[in-house]
Amino acid sequence: MDKSLKHECGVFGVFGHKEASNLTYLGLHALQHRGQESAGIAVVDERTMRVHRQMGYVADIFDATILDALVGSSAIGHVRYSTAGGSVLKNAQPFTVETRRGNLAVAHNGNLVNAERLRQDLEDKGDLFYTNADTEVIAHVLARHKKGSLEERVGRVMRRIKGAYSFVMLAGEKLIAARDPQGYRPLVLGRLGDAYIISSETCALSLIGAKFEREIEPGEVVCISDEGVTSSFPLGKTKKEKVQQCIFELIYFARPDSHIFDRSVYAIRKQFGVRLAQESNVPDADCVIPVPDSGVVAAMGFAETAQIPYEMGLIRNHYVGRTFIEPTQQIRHFGVRLKLNPVEELISGRSIIVVDDSIVRATTSRKIVSMLRAAGAKEVHMRISAPPILWPCYYGIDTPERSQLIASSHSVQEICEYIEADSLAFLSQEGMMETAQGTTGGFCDACFTGNYFIPPDEITAPAEVSLYEN
Ligand code: AMP
Repeated sequence: MDKSLKHECGVFGVFGHKEASNLTYLGLHALQHRGQESAGIAVVDERTMRVHRQMGYVADIFDATILDALVGSSAIGHVRYSTAGGSVLKNAQPFTVETRRGNLAVAHNGNLVNAERLRQDLEDKGDLFYTNADTEVIAHVLARHKKGSLEERVGRVMRRIKGAYSFVMLAGEKLIAARDPQGYRPLVLGRLGDAYIISSETCALSLIGAKFEREIEPGEVVCISDEGVTSSFPLGKTKKEKVQQCIFELIYFARPDSHIFDRSVYAIRKQFGVRLAQESNVPDADCVIPVPDSGVVAAMGFAETAQIPYEMGLIRNHYVGRTFIEPTQQIRHFGVRLKLNPVEELISGRSIIVVDDSIVRATTSRKIVSMLRAAGAKEVHMRISAPPILWPCYYGIDTPERSQLIASSHSVQEICEYIEADSLAFLSQEGMMETAQGTTGGFCDACFTGNYFIPPDEITAPAEVSLYEN
């Protein structure tokens, strides 16, 4: 079985700023939602590379002394959120290697679907691997291509790797950013004075006062050096209809204050809520409450459209980590209660519409319905601003194996019974796609439809590996 890791991660890069590591530290703070397991920063100062990686949150990993030691005018950073088996320091990124051609640091977001095959090939040729992360495969493939400029070698790497990747790379005096030809994961380019910034999301640009320039396009390699910025498409430009931007970034993963895929995440999420209300309102309900934070924006769109008062009927304790990083089912159940508490006076004796963005195993919804009933709710109507998740993701979102996705084996009515709600409705597939459509190309909606752009036969990544089974 493939032991490579899925990556729900965030990447950041700075070129040409004397405070590169401090800016990267700030950028990683803004990308913390993309991964809370480990973080790291690598810097280059002339030909010396320095790196600091550690398990934990960005705020706990770096301090002034560590950042001061990361001297250099170019840096890359990474926050990581892995699935099973990989929660160890050696898998923290940026991944660094020393080669005859100089040092190299790579930070990667996404999941390669042929990483295991490539790794076997490379091992057969005598390569030794230090980690079991895809990123190391990228570094090895690159190290094996010895001729040509760095950008040309990155192009050759892109011909060999398949799947989802948005990565930043630091080598010699260059910062490289590349996005896979389908453009699954976001990646943007910004400017801060004379310096260039690369980030998974624009929220990190705003934090450091950088100006958004443009998205890195699907299949594009951007190379930043003292000579300026060059752009190339080693596999050719991707036709719009072949672009597969991850729709789940818009539904759940990206921060609502970001613009990705040329859209405001906030505006799209709100529109998902508008459409959901048009499709499945409960006209007699007394109030609409979001599941914080995931359902907040969609619930506003829902409430406005339904003309039903919006209330924060569930209060979130922000000092507890995400439910998904709890290691066992038992702790996870406990986690939901620890994280959310109902405001009884808003709930008691009333008919409530609860809006969340997704149901995966339905543990969260079941717990929420039971909490609201215990707080005296007369009726609880659950509304979900995405369709039922039926298929695992092979491109970097942490979804469990198919058998654990409740919607893969239960009808909407059965899920409703399981979560003990009075009614349950999901956003329709058409509703989601019509709302999301934009100018930058199509979307990957495989988690809802099973239509994998890279067909599952070719997929060697471990769908059966999931966080909860640790
Ligand atoms: P579940 O209890 O398994 O149905 O999980 C549903 C909750 O998890 C919802 O509140 C979602 O916002 C959240 N969620 C969905 N997908 C993910 C993911 N890939 N990582 C972390 N949280 C998620």
